[in-house]
Order: sequence, then C-alpha cells, then structure tokens
Amino acid sequence: MGIRLSRFLTWSESRKLIEYPKTTIKTLKTCVVTQNSKPKTQNSKTLRVGITGGIGSGKTTVCRIFEALGIPVYDADYWARWVIANDPEVRAAIVALLGPEAYLPDGTYHRAFVAGIVFNTPEKLAALNAVVHPAVERHSRAWHDQQVRNGPPYTLKEAALLVESGSHLFLDALIVVTAPEEIRVRRVQARDHVSAEAVHARIRNQMPEAEKAALADHLIINDGQHLLIPQVWAVHQKLLASQDF
Ligand code: ATP
Repeated sequence: MGIRLSRFLTWSESRKLIEYPKTTIKTLKTCVVTQNSKPKTQNSKTLRVGITGGIGSGKTTVCRIFEALGIPVYDADYWARWVIANDPEVRAAIVALLGPEAYLPDGTYHRAFVAGIVFNTPEKLAALNAVVHPAVERHSRAWHDQQVRNGPPYTLKEAALLVESGSHLFLDALIVVTAPEEIRVRRVQARDHVSAEAVHARIRNQMPEAEKAALADHLIINDGQHLLIPQVWAVHQKLLASQDF
C-alpha cells in the first residue's frame, strides 16, 4: 500500500498524511485526483527508450503495438526528413556541404541529387550524417520533453540507424527487433515490390543484426513463430517496473 501511495504523493503531501492523520482520506482523494489530472513535469522519470532492428525486422509493426498501449512513438526517419526540409540551420549546413542544388527552386530537398553525391563519396555521407543525426537527436529530445507533459511512463524512438548514429548512447534502454534474414527479405519484397537482390544490398549496408542484438536491453523476436503481443507486453511490464516514480 505504501509503495502504491508513494506513486501518488509528493513528499510534502506524504508529510501531511503523517502530521494530520484525520485528514488522511480527504488528502488521499485529493492527491489521486490531482495526480490523474495534473500533467507531469519535465523532472518526472519518463524514460527515453530506443527501438531498432534491421530492415524488415518489424520495428514499425512492433511500434504499433506499443502505441496501442498508449506509448508515444517518435519515427526518426520521418522526422529526419522533416528536419532536413524545415530546420534553417540544417538547410544552411547542407547547402554549404553539397551546394545549392541540394534543394530544388521550390525549396524541397533534392533527394536524388544528394544521393548521387553521398553514395559515391563516403566522406560526404559522413559529413551529411554529422549534420542530420545531431539535429534529429535535438529534435527528438524536444519531442520527448513535450510528451513528458502528458505523463507517459516512457517514450519510444524508432530508428533504423539508432546504433549506427550513436543515438542509443543517449537513451535509457534499447529494444532490438530481430528476424532471420530470409524472412526479412521476403517481407520487404512483399511490402516494397523489390527484388531479393535489392533487399540484400540494403541489408549489406546496415550493421549486422547480431551486433545490434548484442547491445539490446530487450530483444523482440519477430520470426513468425514467437507471438509479438506477449513479447511487447513483457517488455512493457519490465520498463514500467524500471520506473522510479
Ligand atoms: P524498415 O526497416 O524497412 O522500415 P521495419 O523493420 O519497420 O522495416 P515493418 O515495416 O514493421 O518492418 O515490417 C516489414 C513488413 O513485414 C511489413 O509489410 C509488415 O506488415 C510485415 N510484418 C512484420 N512483422 C510481421 C509478422 N510477424 N508477420 C507477418 N508480417 C509481418
């Protein structure tokens, strides 16, 4: 009971319960109502959790289940595109690095032009990543701080390159979704209507799955044999248990 109450009471409210026992029930009711209606502050212990995995491992599918549990999910690939298009400092840095052709006359990002440069010049790719990854990290922190006001126990940052970008070092826990390569290839082929060779080429460009899995605090196996929902539920419970309310 004491542990459950401590989740609802501030230190001064706890003192009131000790000092004025007659008001206990009234205070408790007020505290519970207050807790349920008052948003958390940025000082509360909302964890930042990352979720990653190789192409086609099922990151997005797993995130949909976490969302159904009420967990906010940050889609880093989506927001990276947004940052590149909208953050003035990022735009200026990309133009300085790759030239004004990196953006079309209407202001949209010229993805094909940039891809043509960076995929043939590893140093340019590294320099581009050094602009974009920290900007997305800053943006995701600001997003997390906004979410904290709604009081979730943790937020999820979903990114294919979470480990490659080093972002996992700033997170409280890392979830890695894994699936055998042949299953991933079949799933991506079916989803994107591309050849097996094309998927294998994308896989070769990523860090080997086993290396990511070795860094995981929580593994989710998405091989079509292990059920996903019970695995997500188990990870969710562990993350809740690791909260320090
Ligand atoms: P990417 O890295 O390309 O963004 P991802 O890791 O986010 O991929 P998903 O998009 O979630 O992977 O899954 C890839 C495809 O496999 C999707 O079409 C999805 O519906 C399907 N899929 C994922 N998990 C399963 C499963 N357990 N059973 C059947 N299909 C699945």
